[in-house]
Amino acid sequence: MVNLEQLKSAIRDIPDFPRPGIIFKDITPILGNGQLFQRVIDHLADEAQKANPSKVVGIDARGFLFGAAVAYKLGLGCVPVRKKGKLPYKTIGSSYQLEYGDAEVEMHIDAIAEGERVVLVDDLLATGGTSGAAVNLVQKIGGVVGSALFVIELAFLNGREKLPPDVPVYSIVQY
Ligand code: AMP
Repeated sequence: MVNLEQLKSAIRDIPDFPRPGIIFKDITPILGNGQLFQRVIDHLADEAQKANPSKVVGIDARGFLFGAAVAYKLGLGCVPVRKKGKLPYKTIGSSYQLEYGDAEVEMHIDAIAEGERVVLVDDLLATGGTSGAAVNLVQKIGGVVGSALFVIELAFLNGREKLPPDVPVYSIVQY
């Protein structure tokens, strides 16, 4: 079990980054503390296992750091969901709304098989646009999202409401 006070004290608030008015939650102090990072991964892996997945989907870019470690821990495959234009093979895409304009995430068309169960991992759930689009990608190619896991949830933004009601959402710390 991860110690929540220790975890919270390793999440650094950076005001006005990357834009004025945003308080960026910097998770690099978690990554930099080997024991804490290990506990966070163990904790996420325990949660992931409940969904009985065969793959972990990590979301660009900090979701790769946590997602890949969870996949390794459980001996599962790992799938990157990337920002548009980064993946080299054939892709499917899903766009979502940002505060100003649209964004799109992509996944390789052969990343997940029909009926395959996956868990989604990202560092932080904010408005839910990114993870909602990632769930949409998995479902579009016939995969099943067993759960969506986050280290941090900005609960006041109600991001979990952007995810389908049948996808359980779990976060370790909430603000
Ligand atoms: P959203 O699509 O609004 O849920 O945003 C989630 C994505 O944006 C995640 O991949 C986060 O890494 C990043 N993100 C959004 N807001 C913040 C924040 N305040 N601090 C750190 N990362 C954030």
